[in-house]
Amino acid sequence: MSIIDLSNNGANDAANAFLAKNVHKNFVDGEWDTCASGATFETIDPATGGRLGDIQRSAAEDIDTAVSAARKAFDTGPWPRMTPLERSQMLWKIADILEANIDELAELETLDQGKALYVGRWAEIPGAIAQFRYFAGMATKLEGSTIPTSINYQPEGKEVFAYTLKQPVGVVGAIVPWNSPLVLTAMKLAPALAAGCTIILKPSEDTSLTAIRLVELIAEAGLPNGVLNLITGYGSEAGAALASHPQVDKVSFTGSTSTGRAILDAAKGNLKRVTLELGGKSPVIIMPDADLDAAIPGAANAIYFNGGQVCIAGSRLYAHRSVFDKVVEGVATQANQIKQGHGLNPETQMGALISKQHASKVADYIAEGKKAGASVLCGGETAGPNGSFVTPTVLTDVKPDMRVVREEIFGPVVVAMPFDDIDEVVTAANDSDYGLAAGIWTEGLSNATRIANRLRAGTVWINSHAMYDASLPIGGVKQSGWGRDSGQAALENYLDLKTVCAIV
Ligand code: NAD
Repeated sequence: MSIIDLSNNGANDAANAFLAKNVHKNFVDGEWDTCASGATFETIDPATGGRLGDIQRSAAEDIDTAVSAARKAFDTGPWPRMTPLERSQMLWKIADILEANIDELAELETLDQGKALYVGRWAEIPGAIAQFRYFAGMATKLEGSTIPTSINYQPEGKEVFAYTLKQPVGVVGAIVPWNSPLVLTAMKLAPALAAGCTIILKPSEDTSLTAIRLVELIAEAGLPNGVLNLITGYGSEAGAALASHPQVDKVSFTGSTSTGRAILDAAKGNLKRVTLELGGKSPVIIMPDADLDAAIPGAANAIYFNGGQVCIAGSRLYAHRSVFDKVVEGVATQANQIKQGHGLNPETQMGALISKQHASKVADYIAEGKKAGASVLCGGETAGPNGSFVTPTVLTDVKPDMRVVREEIFGPVVVAMPFDDIDEVVTAANDSDYGLAAGIWTEGLSNATRIANRLRAGTVWINSHAMYDASLPIGGVKQSGWGRDSGQAALENYLDLKTVCAIV
């Protein structure tokens, strides 16, 4: 059994001051308040099981109140009517405030989610800040077009003047998961705010703390009341009420494919617009000419970063038969060297998974894979006082129809398979209900680009995995979702196109 080091240096004063509030509230129309029922639930540190605070357990009536506030702020408030430059300045100010509080945010994210501190401090929270800066720039570029028409029935001496306007879609429900809470929240808030929308944010019940702190910091920037509202609670209660609310114009959802289907059902009442960023089972392909010194750590990082709780995790590893043994041995060696422990310990490379329940789900997948004939090359153990750690795992001798190959495990488990030629690996990689991302490792530019063209995935990385930038669209094909977050494409999620046609 692996040793999990739970020692840590503790959180800084600012994070402790936030935690000392003990009971955390909703934020509606510029005020912090409890939910109507007064019900709360505990949120815990997944590494230790220790209580971090209480969260409002909101329900439909709290969503109603928040939607009314967002509706009023959209229909009559200043935010959608401000100049683009004013909105841009506000987004930039938000980014500055977040940056000034980055250490606190990173520590809270680690305590709430379990992740190793470096993941939040150096990747995800800078990524969240970058979203606000990128969309601060976009707020001033919401351009329509002028359109020459062939209309020829206007009165004599008159002309037709036609143009389009890009206008905010309205009240947005933003529903986010627990794996990378701050950056995924920023991917929704920043473009929605840039477009002039108003928002009700519903974070995951497992990771509400950093959303609450984020909203506190955003409120400091001086956003008008009602523009950003926060309602915490369970998905089946607060989340479902938000997705089905008739006064919400758009739901932007990131989470599992099964919840994505429920969101679609809920949204159909008023035909609200829906963006879905869903699950994945992303292939990593290692060609015979790959630089293995880069590809092996690259493949290991593709699956083990954030404990494999990443939508674009490289969870299916296809290595050419000529290098297969070397690759899987190499990935297993990397896996065995990963230091696991409390995320606040600076030595920790992989923290706890989000919960004991999630760790046992991951363990069940491993057990089921073994039963079906898979070999465990390394890892495969559950550990820690709260049972929330899973050791980094490599499964070999797997078959394409096994559940470990087909389903999203969302933990530090990679299934490794050999291949002989490009057609075979492209077919295998595409043989999935998902189509979120893929990675190709090769020194051959022609093969890389040809394979990239043929893979059914929203993003393909070549000689890398999971390179993110606020400018790069991210999202999936097939059952990995509809639409894109990040980049210019994300702005369109929050805009409607209006055609104006005039006789002048
Ligand atoms: P989840 O679907 O269980 O929950 C996501 C959010 O939806 C939570 O806030 C939850 O409270 C809410 N929710 C649950 N049921 C709901 C309902 N009926 N109506 C409305 N809201 C509801 O997902 P999770 O376990 O929190 O997150 C992990 C999943 O998210 C994985 O499948 C992962 O691949 C996916 N994900 C996708 C992306 C992407 O960009 N494509 C990014 C990160 C995570």
